Amino acid sequence: CKLSLATLSDVARTAAIPGYDRASLKAGIVHFGVGNFHRAHQAIYLDDLFNQGADHDWAIVGAGVLPSDAAMREKLAAQDFLTTVVEQDNNKTAARITAPMIDILPVGDASAIIAKLADPEIRIVSMTITEGGYFIDASGIFNPAHPAIAADGQNPSAPKTVFGLVVAGLKARKEKGIVPFTVMSCDNIPHNGIVTANAVIGTAALSDPALADWIRANVAFPNAMVDRITPATGQREIDFLRDNFEIEDNWPVYCEEFKQWVLEDKFTAGRPALEKVGVTFVPDVTPYEHMKIRILNGGHAAIAYPAALMDIHFVHDSMEDPLIRAFLAKLENDEIIPIVPPVPNTSLTDYFALIEHRLLNPKIADTIPRLAQDGSNRQPKFILPSTLDNLRQGRDVVGLALVSALWCRYFAGKTDSGKDIVFNDASADRLHAAALKAKDDPAVFLVFDDIFGEVAKSELFRKRFAHALKSLWEKGTRETLQLYLDGKL
Ligand code: NAD
Repeated sequence: CKLSLATLSDVARTAAIPGYDRASLKAGIVHFGVGNFHRAHQAIYLDDLFNQGADHDWAIVGAGVLPSDAAMREKLAAQDFLTTVVEQDNNKTAARITAPMIDILPVGDASAIIAKLADPEIRIVSMTITEGGYFIDASGIFNPAHPAIAADGQNPSAPKTVFGLVVAGLKARKEKGIVPFTVMSCDNIPHNGIVTANAVIGTAALSDPALADWIRANVAFPNAMVDRITPATGQREIDFLRDNFEIEDNWPVYCEEFKQWVLEDKFTAGRPALEKVGVTFVPDVTPYEHMKIRILNGGHAAIAYPAALMDIHFVHDSMEDPLIRAFLAKLENDEIIPIVPPVPNTSLTDYFALIEHRLLNPKIADTIPRLAQDGSNRQPKFILPSTLDNLRQGRDVVGLALVSALWCRYFAGKTDSGKDIVFNDASADRLHAAALKAKDDPAVFLVFDDIFGEVAKSELFRKRFAHALKSLWEKGTRETLQLYLDGKL
């Protein structure tokens, strides 16, 4: 049946439904970017908390600035802002209806959004607006000259960006003497709280430097590490829910069972008791972030290219391949895990074992092309910092140099069997041209300072990279991985 508050008792035949009365909820959070990840992560933690009967004054009001947000608002409004979340473990699929969102503000109506942000009942403004939403350059620095931000600086009372709106909301609160809300980013960006603070303060400084100073002194921007693999929704997911659970949901969310949220306990106007539902509060999120980026995201960035060269499409199939699985394990154990600083109450080897398990999950159907895209941004964030740390500690980098060589070999544009590779990377043209030349002269691929930086200056790295690339061209991916596993590369 069609999902709505009125049909919940019917829906309960096949899915778990909220154990709280939606009418008991009051707004406490405005969230920008009501995409899939928010509804599989933050909204689930709040749903769990509300199910415990706690903190019903922390419901979510959605917000957005893009046309796609307006379309999402229509889809969700038609079902009373309820979302079906389908959680899939390797051998279990369960659906639950979640209700912590009580409204979505009209997209494009700046005055309505600013009025809500100025309402004292709102005590947190959170966001998942993707890395592209933060107006940062490759090194993570905020760019106040971006036309959209500059326009909000010129016209601060009718802003169009998330940061212009947040600044206008904070200004109204300052003028009325209302305690400022906390600004909480849940995007997958290192030091996301600092990046968000720079964007908000940088935007405010364009029109009102005194306001920018007040924000710097009075507003909290906690850093967070967030984790839950949440693929995009398509017609297949909508149909699966209808056919298997008899629920018609306009935009359900599918995700893995695992989830993690590590958050700094810095809030200017209070927070929900998220520690009751599994959120880890810490004074400094850096070690957790480091662990996740090096071991999980680095692992993704390592398996993507051998799998692509071997014509493997799905992530779980790549992990079922004994060579790729053993390659990842050796790389993590020899060159990644040993240089990740200790994380409180966490065994890094157990953390990696869990990641292997997650990557093997066939239900998620995550794809190698998705992992292989945007390598020019991902390799310098997820792989090369590990390479540099090893080199600085006088350690060898046979495996990590092989990852760079695989990436180079991939950019030559054909798989080992001769199939064309479709690139999805802003730097694809220059990388493709260099990768073709690197077949005869490997050093050509290492000239990109914005990508390789210090690493390319290491003689040891250059030697290992050249040797691995030669092997990939002469012997192919499978044999090269085998040589690496045998300690003979
Ligand atoms: P999604 O495409 O479902 O939703 C993206 C949301 O961001 C939409 O509401 C969109 O309108 C908004 N947005 C995009 N660009 C924007 C811009 N320039 N300004 C304002 N809003 C903008 O994607 P998702 O799966 O929800 O992922 C969103 C983010 O969540 C990721 O980029 C990542 O930072 C984080 N995250 C996602 C996952 C995952 O597995 N999907 C895991 C961890 C973290």
